[in-house]
Amino acid sequence: MKSLREYLSWAEEKCVAIGHFNISDSEGFKAVTETAHELNLPVIIGVSEGEREFIGLAEAVAMVKTIQNNNQPVFLNADHTYSIEKAKIAIDAGVDCIIIDAAEKSLEENTKLTKEIVDYAKSKNPKILVEGEIGFIGKSSNLLESLPEGVSVETQTDPKEALQFIKNTGIDLLAPSVGNVHGIVKTGNPKLNIERIKAIKDIVGIPLVLHGGSGITDDNFKKAIKAGIRIIHINTELRVAYKEGIREGLKSREVAPYKFLAEGVEEMKEVVKERLKLFNNL
Ligand SMILES: [Zn+2]
Repeated sequence: MKSLREYLSWAEEKCVAIGHFNISDSEGFKAVTETAHELNLPVIIGVSEGEREFIGLAEAVAMVKTIQNNNQPVFLNADHTYSIEKAKIAIDAGVDCIIIDAAEKSLEENTKLTKEIVDYAKSKNPKILVEGEIGFIGKSSNLLESLPEGVSVETQTDPKEALQFIKNTGIDLLAPSVGNVHGIVKTGNPKLNIERIKAIKDIVGIPLVLHGGSGITDDNFKKAIKAGIRIIHINTELRVAYKEGIREGLKSREVAPYKFLAEGVEEMKEVVKERLKLFNNL
């Protein structure tokens, strides 16, 4: 099986983006991996600090390793990790990639923390990919009434600053702030700054990751991929679909979890399928 780094080169060549979907439990895992298998596509499973506490970090690693042993390209990402302690625990547990999120800190502090974790990660596992983030995009994976405070054009990532940040930290992947926002904003779809994506891509030379993909229009996604986005994160949409599916499932008198949860899995599979097809030009 190819490594995640090799799949990213594959995505670059084909001008597609690898889907990244967050899960909290085995139902989410089932929905994402089964859909990726049906479409014969690589996929990344994300677990944030809260999500990995719920599913269990060792359990998530074991589930992904089992599927990798069957030669299915599924990779595990320790999504938004805020502290050195939590980062070290995830790296030691055997994740394939990790995101250090210190974007809310000063550039100096962000650089210092990110570099420290890159050094630790590479000393433990030379194959692990580390993602850094500059420019603020909000923190919630929820339904939002309006744009979160602190998110604006002024906080979008500066291409030159991004290059310096990469040089100073040694990260493998960059999550820029380009008009994207975490969560789904009720007042309308966030609009991506395609020019900014292109400008960053032209200067940095490492794969770009788009966070806060939920709620962005298909057309905007296509343009972003063309401009250089190689991984796209979807979380909130999946959560909404799961909850609605379970609500349907609970309407029957069924008490077997694998029956009343099945509707939730199906709803999630629909979202994953639609997104994967869009991101991979299918
Ligand atoms: Zn994110």
